[in-house]
Amino acid sequence: MKKVISLSVSLTILISITLHSQDTSKPTQDFRDYEHTTESVREFYRLNHLHQTLNFVLTQKKKYYPLNKMRMTIWDAMKALDIIVDESDPDVDNAQTVHAFQTAERLRKDGHPRWLILTGLIHDLGKMLIIFGEPQWAVVGDTFPVGCRYSSTIVFHDYFLENLDTNNPRLQTQYGMYKPNCGLDNVHMSWGHDEYLYQVVKRYLPDEALYIIRYHSFYAAHKENAYGYLMDDYDRSMMKWIKLFSAYDLYSKSPEPVNVSELMPYYQELVTEFFPEELNW
Ligand code: FE
Ligand code: FE
Repeated sequence: MKKVISLSVSLTILISITLHSQDTSKPTQDFRDYEHTTESVREFYRLNHLHQTLNFVLTQKKKYYPLNKMRMTIWDAMKALDIIVDESDPDVDNAQTVHAFQTAERLRKDGHPRWLILTGLIHDLGKMLIIFGEPQWAVVGDTFPVGCRYSSTIVFHDYFLENLDTNNPRLQTQYGMYKPNCGLDNVHMSWGHDEYLYQVVKRYLPDEALYIIRYHSFYAAHKENAYGYLMDDYDRSMMKWIKLFSAYDLYSKSPEPVNVSELMPYYQELVTEFFPEELNW
């Protein structure tokens, strides 16, 4: 039997952090600019596209689906995440907690429902995979279906030339191993924080929240409108939620500092409304 570790992180440490959001007054079209990005973002995607094969995804699902690595609260996970800087993201170089509160606060200011504000707060908690020793290319970055042809709309598409599945003709037709319009629930996505967090929270949140969490990094679909031939009516009905969420995820950086200790009572109540004290990770 695998050992279940209980991670206890003091909430007071988290409360004592005063977050200063990035002062980005850059125009929206300058986000996700991969043409003029850094060498490290390129290297991230080279590794990601090289290693994310069908076989790799199936191995990760076997490893993480049992959710038997840890028992942890949402706040433990948030704190653990704060040491992580996302190497795939050309727009953010500060800690994940800043991004979590900024996304949630922007949703809250625009009067969105409580479940959507909560989704903003937790949507990247799956990046926890890094503390289990996973490399960044197996945790962050855009996601895409494996087991069928890689769409040319995926960022740094050329790096798929090195992917083992590219040499497997069975997996490189339009549908590959899937049936037309089989629904994304039947499609294996490249492994990362989206699918992992979906597994952790799927018993507790409304369908729309779960869909956002599971596919928010699938930019080829929600930004480029690719892979419609794998989607079913359910996917088509849900895509509007991801498109809405994506704007908050990307453009929520504000010049005003975010004071966590002031916000904490609201967010503690919100987390308690939907989640038990500890969850299986
Ligand atoms: Fe994310
Ligand atoms: Fe995010």
